[in-house]
Amino acid sequence: MKVYKILIDGKWVSSRTGETYKNINPATGKTLGIFQKGGREDVREALKSAWRAFPKWRDTPAPARGEILFRAASIIEKGKRELARTLTQENGKNLEESQGEVQEGIDTLKYLGGEGRRLLGETMPSELKNKFCMTIRQPIGVVGLITPWNFPFSIPCWKLAPALVSGNTVVFKPASDTPLTAIKLGEILMQAGLPPGVLNLVTGPGSTAGEELAVNPMSRATSFTGSTQVGRDVYIKGAQKLCRVGLEMGGKNAEIVLRDANLELALEGAVWGAFGTSGQRCTATSRIILERPIKEEFTRKFLRMVKKIKTGNGFQKGVLVGPIINQGQTEKILGYIKTGREEGARLLTGGKRLSTGNFKRGFFIEPTVFGDVKPEMRVAQEEIFGPVVCLMEARDFGDAIRIANSTSYGLSLSIYTRDVSKSFRAIDKLESGIVYINSPTIGAEVHVPFGGIKNTGNGSREAGTTAIEEFTELKSVFVDYSDKLQKAQIDV
Ligand code: NAD
Repeated sequence: MKVYKILIDGKWVSSRTGETYKNINPATGKTLGIFQKGGREDVREALKSAWRAFPKWRDTPAPARGEILFRAASIIEKGKRELARTLTQENGKNLEESQGEVQEGIDTLKYLGGEGRRLLGETMPSELKNKFCMTIRQPIGVVGLITPWNFPFSIPCWKLAPALVSGNTVVFKPASDTPLTAIKLGEILMQAGLPPGVLNLVTGPGSTAGEELAVNPMSRATSFTGSTQVGRDVYIKGAQKLCRVGLEMGGKNAEIVLRDANLELALEGAVWGAFGTSGQRCTATSRIILERPIKEEFTRKFLRMVKKIKTGNGFQKGVLVGPIINQGQTEKILGYIKTGREEGARLLTGGKRLSTGNFKRGFFIEPTVFGDVKPEMRVAQEEIFGPVVCLMEARDFGDAIRIANSTSYGLSLSIYTRDVSKSFRAIDKLESGIVYINSPTIGAEVHVPFGGIKNTGNGSREAGTTAIEEFTELKSVFVDYSDKLQKAQIDV
């Protein structure tokens, strides 16, 4: 069985803890490799290595830094199929989705490689004569990146690409359930020409390796994607050392279907939004809010479609719902299904763990639909993060918006309607970082800012031009060419 190492100072080495762990394929239970259980010491060494590499990397022209990202993108393009297979083995999502995720990584590296030729600041006029004002962008220093398992390739790319092109050096701690995909990405970036120490990668538990990165002042900024519970803790630790913290956290996303919607389109969107990636997306459609007149018809047709969904190993053709990532998550989802029943939601289909035949060694749950869900129920409020969706009834448009906004999260909300006025009113009133009109709650594009409000985020946005903001400091520059002392606010 292959033993994978951690990356410090350009070398793949064993963890100082001397401990390792097995990572398994969640569909088959087969061991994929042995990985280092990196700890605090490893993270400290990684941070030191990143600081040693920083001065030279900072002084490397940004277009040259971008070139490395372009090279990485082209290496990934050549190995796309193989990488997608690794992703399906490790995360479980079906092969088509894995290929889509790898493509998202490629697009991100290309888009942000191009930022190496922009990294735009601004120029402004001065209030004084013969004086010039501008802003320039500079790297923060060493930054810590902490990522989840549900997008183990594209989320690290979303963070690594802007961090690196901006001139930062990095310590990256991937999720414990998906270390192999992260290591493959690390190998590719090294092969593309990153100098030693610019990227350091430590696999290991969040409670030690992750926490050290969040708490250690040698890491000048933390970029975190994961649950709201852990994110809050990372934020507090960042506040204590007065560092910048970018947070992308949980969601409780909803698709609203109004009475005038193209119902077939809304149904297709709902199936994809709720059950793609087995519902293990931060943007997964977890609630479907149906305007009363179309509720019965939508429910009937939706159940017919859900009952046809193929669940299984992501390598099998036609499978939409793959395995749940691990035993703990499986139990958590089953717990929510139990809670839903107890609080009076009507189980319309699914609800059980699949554990016989082909499902025997993996973690599989039937696609599950609850009806008669009320906004105050826990299943309507809390992130389930699995193949479970709640159908809810709304009296009218206003009621639908109110229900959509009635959770503590604010990531992605969608509405299906043919009414332009209602579309724009929804864009205005929905409380979320992302709004979709006539498409499901999932479907990010790398050049469009991504992030949430309320308990989903703390104001940062990944992707788009905003990706650079998370990883740069703005410096304001005043150039006075008047050859005399000019006093702002006084000499005007
Ligand atoms: P998680 O919060 O359990 O873990 C995320 C990362 O944090 C992992 O690398 C983990 O090891 C690390 N970690 C755990 N404890 C830590 C600690 N005390 N200090 C520092 N790091 C620690 O989340 P998960 O289960 O890996 O991912 C699922 C969650 O991620 C869901 O809530 C989902 O909504 C969210 N998510 C959000 C987005 C987004 O962009 N908003 C995208 C994907 C996933």
